[in-house]
Amino acid sequence: MPFVRVAIEVPVGGLFDYRVDAAADSVGLRVAVPFGPRTMVGVVVEADVTPEIDVARIKPARILRDMPPLSAKWLELLRFCAAYYHHPLGNALGAALPALIKADRPLAAALWTRYRWLAAAPEFPKRERTRAALAARLMEAPRHGYELTSISPKALAHLQDWMAGGEVGMAEPASFVEAAAPDLTPEQAAAVAAVTRDLAAGRFAASLLHGVTGSGKTEVYLRVAAHALATGGQVLVMVPEINLTPRLLEHFRQRFPASSIVALHSALSESERSHHWLMAHAGTADIVLGTRLAVLASMPRMKLIVVDEEHDPSFKQQEGMRYSARDLAVYRAKSESIPIVLGSATPSLETFAHAQSGRYARLSMRERAVAAAELPAVRIVDLNTTRAEHGLTGPVLEAIRACRARGEQSLVFLNRRGFAPVLSCNACGWVSACSRCTAYLVLHRRRGLQAGGTLMCHHCGYAEPVPQACPTCGNVDIRGYGQGTQRLEAQVAELFPDARVLRIDRDSTSRKGSAEELFDQVHAGEADILVGTQMLAKGHDFKNLTLVAAINVDAALFSADFRASERLFAQLTQVAGRAGRAGKPGEVIIQTRKPDHPLFRAVANGDYEGFAAGLLAEREAAGLPPASFQAMLRAEAKKLEVALDFLKAAAASGVENASIEIYDPVPMNLTRLMNVERAQLLVESRSRPALQSFLTDWVEWLGAHAPSGVHWHVEVDPLEI
Ligand code: ADP
Ligand code: ZN
Ligand code: ZN
Repeated sequence: MPFVRVAIEVPVGGLFDYRVDAAADSVGLRVAVPFGPRTMVGVVVEADVTPEIDVARIKPARILRDMPPLSAKWLELLRFCAAYYHHPLGNALGAALPALIKADRPLAAALWTRYRWLAAAPEFPKRERTRAALAARLMEAPRHGYELTSISPKALAHLQDWMAGGEVGMAEPASFVEAAAPDLTPEQAAAVAAVTRDLAAGRFAASLLHGVTGSGKTEVYLRVAAHALATGGQVLVMVPEINLTPRLLEHFRQRFPASSIVALHSALSESERSHHWLMAHAGTADIVLGTRLAVLASMPRMKLIVVDEEHDPSFKQQEGMRYSARDLAVYRAKSESIPIVLGSATPSLETFAHAQSGRYARLSMRERAVAAAELPAVRIVDLNTTRAEHGLTGPVLEAIRACRARGEQSLVFLNRRGFAPVLSCNACGWVSACSRCTAYLVLHRRRGLQAGGTLMCHHCGYAEPVPQACPTCGNVDIRGYGQGTQRLEAQVAELFPDARVLRIDRDSTSRKGSAEELFDQVHAGEADILVGTQMLAKGHDFKNLTLVAAINVDAALFSADFRASERLFAQLTQVAGRAGRAGKPGEVIIQTRKPDHPLFRAVANGDYEGFAAGLLAEREAAGLPPASFQAMLRAEAKKLEVALDFLKAAAASGVENASIEIYDPVPMNLTRLMNVERAQLLVESRSRPALQSFLTDWVEWLGAHAPSGVHWHVEVDPLEI
């Protein structure tokens, strides 16, 4: 009897051999295997293997032939991912595959098959309302079985009848229709032409689409996607945030009415995500639009990848397999020999460096796409010399007033949610600290400025009611210090009593669908003043918004993380870019105590180029990424000493390697999280291959030497130091 090698998602995640009835053509198929007392579903990664252990001990497994096999190319991507991020292959697969594929239940191919109505328009008796509704849907456009199940759970049975009767047939893949599009600006046309050449040549090429905010990057994505779709290709479009998917989906649906477009992100139900994934895998979805996890979707006809806002740190997965979806996308494009477009107004320094060296093509768009739209004028207000009321200086208040008078929208940007970052007692010095983390409990009020509410830890989720009096001395005069978006919202409402103030942050959008509702309100003009965090900064195209005020951004200037100024520059440029996009002049005000800081001057002058070149030179001189490559080893234990001791031993085990620099172990910034103490150790090398081969040996050493009670992981290319 033959044996197969199976990747399964288990803590010791790796490869296990099983006995099967027939191994032929089984690579890439699902397989149900006994694992301890459970049955698990993994994927066959090798067929006809010669087991390394006694064959008598090998257990039998069931190959499930209910889905098209995962391709060798896709498995190769996962192997690369597992190797590069030093993560077990079984767990890499586990991270890539949605829930239903890992469950021991049969999959129904009808759900990811696309059907169309073939017969003449039918007439159904009145009581057959379900059948009438299903047929109507199918007559509009070809539909997946899964889409029809939302009309009726009996949809598949009806489909089967109709298939037998010839009224319904399978839809051809990649039907393509392109709806009317605006004339391209010359800069857009040049960018589209460049990518189209790569598409026509069917070759790998990475292009940095460096376009100022409002330059019309979306239109470029749509045009190049059209070329890929017209020739029968699938297109993967990645965005950093779930909130950016609905409008982009809408753009793609309108432009390509006959194409099948699916979303992939973590806010979908398990069933939705699994079926969207299967549609992509079966090739019946033409466009996949999603967040970072979409990069691991299986797409057999993939011809183009687009990564929008490529600089965004959200493309980095922060737990489990800590991959960079942007970097994997580039790897994937290369292995598929297809073009990839990386779009941003503020490219990451990594990408910028590749564009400088010529590894990536550089497509620049310096003008806004809407003819009359100019980049906003940026003003810096000195907080040292200008009085502020509720954190808002005179110039900001005046500008909001003027903006209101013109009937336009303004946005006040404050990247700190909650009411106040800490509650404290003046009499004894008590502060609201989380008992489980090295962090303050943040004060959240239910409504406006009134008392009461909740103290919440933003790191571990702990929450308690606000105490009536100081828990240590009984003083009733305890206050929230500092300002979060909730407090700002209430204060702005007080300052502008006749304005409609809308707050958009993670708290105001926690309910499913509420973010979309709030963004719709903004687009519909139902709000005058927006108060919000970086959620508001990214990507959105608010036509009537002409004023942006960033009121408290200085903290990032003092951060120990070498990427802090790169991030602040990007964030300010992005949020400033929300103003004046539709032809009305826009204005941006930045309040700071460091008005002469070169970063603010660069933002004001829109000088990404100069700023990035300066940062790059600094990084080069200091030997920091992108001039070097890093990995972070993190250890967690009940006692900080235990974590640090393990890191010290780990550092000592690796010192012989001359091309690797190992830093001293240090406690993490947020040292205690959920009662666990955390420390980290940075390793760095000028050579990526040297770092990789070092890590391979090191990870093995770590696995063999970690004491029980210490949890550890390695993060390759960490973004937060
Ligand atoms: P970006 O993503 O580069 O910040 P968007 O793609 O959101 O910019 O486009 C900004 C605005 O310009 C949108 O309102 C869009 O409809 C408009 N736009 C884009 N391309 C064109 C064009 N060729 N002609 C007219 N308007 C355009
Ligand atoms: Zn007190
Ligand atoms: Zn906590």
